[in-house]
Amino acid sequence: MPRRPSYLPDKARAQDFSRRLRRWFRRNSRDLPWRRTRDPYRVLVSELMLQQTQVSRVVEFYGKFLKRFPTIHRLAAAAPRRVMESWEGLGYYARARNLHKLARQVTADGGNGALSAVPGELQKLPGIGAYTAGAVASFAHEKRAALVDTNVARVLSRVFAPKLNPKRPADLKKLWVVAAAVLPRTGAATWTHNQAVMELGALVCTARVMRCAACPLTTVCLTFATATRR
Ligand code: SF4
Repeated sequence: MPRRPSYLPDKARAQDFSRRLRRWFRRNSRDLPWRRTRDPYRVLVSELMLQQTQVSRVVEFYGKFLKRFPTIHRLAAAAPRRVMESWEGLGYYARARNLHKLARQVTADGGNGALSAVPGELQKLPGIGAYTAGAVASFAHEKRAALVDTNVARVLSRVFAPKLNPKRPADLKKLWVVAAAVLPRTGAATWTHNQAVMELGALVCTARVMRCAACPLTTVCLTFATATRR
C-alpha cells in the first residue's frame, strides 16, 4: 500500500478536526444572511461579492442586490448598465460582468437557470473557479465538496502541514488534497464543516494573529504543538 504523505492526517485525526470545528461553529458563528439560504443563485451572489470584499460591506450590498434581482432570470433580463449600478461600491466589476454573463448563459434558449451541484460542471461557467464551484456545491446543494480559499489554506496548513506554503502552487494543490481528506461523511455536515473552517480563519486563526487560546483545534494543531514545545 502506498505511504500516506506527511501532510495528510489519518482518519481519526481528520474526524477529530472536523468534529471540533463543527461544534465550535454551532456556538460561535456569525449570523450572516447567505448562511440562511440554500438557493444556488443567492449563494453564488454572496460568494462572488465576498471575493476581495469585507463581510460587513457585503452584508450592506447583498440584500439590496437581491431585492433588485431576486432571481437569476431577473438578473439575466436586466441591462448591463443596471447590473453595474447595483454593484457600485463593491469594486472589482469583472465579478458583476461575469455573474451577468453566467445568468444569461444558464437561462438562454429557455434554460431553467439551474446551477449544477457538480464542481467540475460549475467551473465551466464564466467567473467560477475551483473555490466558488466548491462553495456552490457544498453551501447551496449540500454536496460533499472541498473548497480552499486563503483562509482555508492558512488554517489547513497551520493545523496539518506547517511546511506547506499556500502561496506556492504545488503546495496549494496539496492543501486541496488535505481539504478533501478532512471532509465529514455527509453533505449536510460538509456544509457546516466548510463554513466552520472559513469562519475560524476569519475570526480566530487569522493572517495577522493566531488566537490559539480561543481555538477549538489546539489538540490537533501542529503549529500550536510546535509553539508550545519550545
Ligand atoms: S491552535 Fe492556533 S495556530 Fe492552530 S488553528 Fe488554532 S489559532 Fe491557528
